Amino acid sequence: MKKIILITGGAGFIGSNFIHYMLNKYPEYEIVNLDKLTYAGNLENLKEVENNKNYHFVKGDITNRELVEHIFEEFNPQYVVNFAAESHVDRSIEGPEIFVKTNVYGTHVLLDVAKEYWENKKMEDVRFIQISTDEVYGSLPLESKEKFTEESPLRPNSPYSATKAGADLICRSYFITYNFPVIITRSSNNFGPRQYPEKLIPLTIKRALEGKPIPVYGDGQNVRDWLYVEDNCKGIDLVLHKGRIGEIYNIGGGNEWKNIDLVNLICGIIAEIKGEDAERYKRLITFVKDRPGHDRRYALSIEKIKSELGWKPESDFLEALKFTVKWYMERWEGII
Ligand code: NAD
Repeated sequence: MKKIILITGGAGFIGSNFIHYMLNKYPEYEIVNLDKLTYAGNLENLKEVENNKNYHFVKGDITNRELVEHIFEEFNPQYVVNFAAESHVDRSIEGPEIFVKTNVYGTHVLLDVAKEYWENKKMEDVRFIQISTDEVYGSLPLESKEKFTEESPLRPNSPYSATKAGADLICRSYFITYNFPVIITRSSNNFGPRQYPEKLIPLTIKRALEGKPIPVYGDGQNVRDWLYVEDNCKGIDLVLHKGRIGEIYNIGGGNEWKNIDLVNLICGIIAEIKGEDAERYKRLITFVKDRPGHDRRYALSIEKIKSELGWKPESDFLEALKFTVKWYMERWEGII
């Protein structure tokens, strides 16, 4: 059955992968992508779908209430998936204000316009998916085997994660107070094609190809749980269609890697593809002053989404990482 989905932040990393995934899987769905095109948004990410008759792009800001109201009037979406955010922790440390504006206030505008519109039109089968992050739970000790569940307390440590936690709480309040149909997903670190090269994996590949220093924070021992972006898209799709209203679902990859080990692995993959000695790239690794408040370890329990919706990550980590490295190498050939 035809559905119209408003996707925000669809020109960014996960949003663009999700748009590709959805247009491919549901040829009868229509997608409206609202994106401000900040430095992180790139229409190149959507080149293959720009002429698809079921895809519409609107350049604009989720904090612009008038514009968001206009989009609801014009397109009549039943579903909203809110990816739009300022997403880089380092930038949030340097300038938190835009994070508060986009991530907290912007989410509020979307919730409020959707609520009013859907109520006025008496629309049924409507859903709002808030895309959140494992970073809202804060940090785990390196030595522990503990994992965050959806019940874990929110203890965000960076301005970025604090604004994402703030958005999650506003979503929760709309469900509790107004019975608004919102569901939150919290995923671990995504990797895959179309990510802006300020994040660890594409940055490492870019610097290695350029022969420039590859920065690694602190002692490199910080642990992240990596999730292939397509697995996340599959999880979000399931939550959108089958998740329980008012619930939170963790989406984790189950691939815990120390940053330094992951960077070394990527150097090895690049060398293997080029038929070179990995030392040539590993030599570029440079430890830099640690990020203030740097979370030591994130790890997510995915029991809930597994048992309720039957989701688990399907990709083989190493294969997906090799595919990702090749994808960037093909795009950045000119850089070498
Ligand atoms: P990204 O930075 O690659 O993309 C964000 C997109 O939002 C960009 O296209 C940008 O132009 C757009 N945008 C920013 N401010 C906007 C505004 N005010 N109005 C409209 N559009 C705006 O981010 P990403 O990595 O794709 O992350 C997407 C979502 O997933 C974010 O909400 C992020 O918090 C969450 N998340 C990301 C990860 C990850 O590993 N990347 C992990 C967990 C959760």
